[in-house]
Amino acid sequence: MASRAAGTYPPVPEPLPHPIVDTHTHLDIGTGMRLPLGAGEPAPEVTPDEEEEFPDLDFFFDTAEQAGVRRIVQIGCDLPAARWTTALVASQFAGRAGVADVNGSHAGTGGSQADANGSQTDANGRSAASALIDPSVVATVPAPPESPRTWMLGGAALHPNEAPRLAEAGLLDDALTEIEALVTSTDRMRVVGETGLDYFRTGEDGIAEQQRSFRAHIEIAKRTGRALQIHDREAHADVLRILREEGAPEVTIFHCFSGDEAMARECAEAGYFMSFAGNITFKNADELRRAAASAPLELLLTETDAPFLTPHPYRGKPGGPYLTPITARKLAEVRGMDAGDLAEAVWTNAETALGSWD
Ligand SMILES: [Zn+2]
Repeated sequence: MASRAAGTYPPVPEPLPHPIVDTHTHLDIGTGMRLPLGAGEPAPEVTPDEEEEFPDLDFFFDTAEQAGVRRIVQIGCDLPAARWTTALVASQFAGRAGVADVNGSHAGTGGSQADANGSQTDANGRSAASALIDPSVVATVPAPPESPRTWMLGGAALHPNEAPRLAEAGLLDDALTEIEALVTSTDRMRVVGETGLDYFRTGEDGIAEQQRSFRAHIEIAKRTGRALQIHDREAHADVLRILREEGAPEVTIFHCFSGDEAMARECAEAGYFMSFAGNITFKNADELRRAAASAPLELLLTETDAPFLTPHPYRGKPGGPYLTPITARKLAEVRGMDAGDLAEAVWTNAETALGSWD
């Protein structure tokens, strides 16, 4: 893997006339806390090569601020990343004046959480999830900034490529239980994702467990009142079918939307949000751009999926949330609208989908 030192990152783009939101990013991977999952990778417990240099969180916060990316959703998609994400967003929450209780129940889900985890609440009345967060993971999260500049929400799930591996080890059910505990441990965790299907990287034998995991995540999202973020790689028909069969959560988001116009129409009819990433800028992405042009404005979201999918002309380099304006500009261009207006619409859509960041 190439060095991910800060110097290899693309320059910070001009901010748009309106702040923009990155609804899906992996700062855990960007900062070298986690390595990306690969097909059939032995275990995600590996740590990055000691030789490798990664930028720290401040690099991502500073560059995001310079680029006008003022809201971020950090996604952890294996258990260690999910724990790290929960600790990170909870620590920012705790840093806010007047907000002391990072373990406070989500208004809409307090009851069901108590039912599910009541017996696991510890002597201090903390939720099961906070007890599950490994203190050594929490210790790696920097102290919350005095006044958080780039405000963050979080999400967690078992990635579709992670599910078969856990199932094979007999760990999938326990892992799903922990994911639910983590997403309900603080109000800052608003997303169950990314989950879904990935037929590009998973062979025949992994598909059944992948589908079981996807169905379980749909249930968790509905039970906890969180938004569902879907990873769909070369599995459009089955993803849509399983959502129909299970009944989709109230808020369902296709992260890194990769379908065509027909799929965009189907998503629009079902009221699913479509989140576009840097691949919309790639040279061979005409079909995706047509889909983006046809999607209803009120269902559009923007994201980076950083450090992956770095937009053209920086494709192949590592990225960060600060590159969202490049994707937003392209999205505005294919829709023939002003980029500031697009940013404003997406900003509103993200609040509709995920609630307030304040
Ligand atoms: Zn992702």
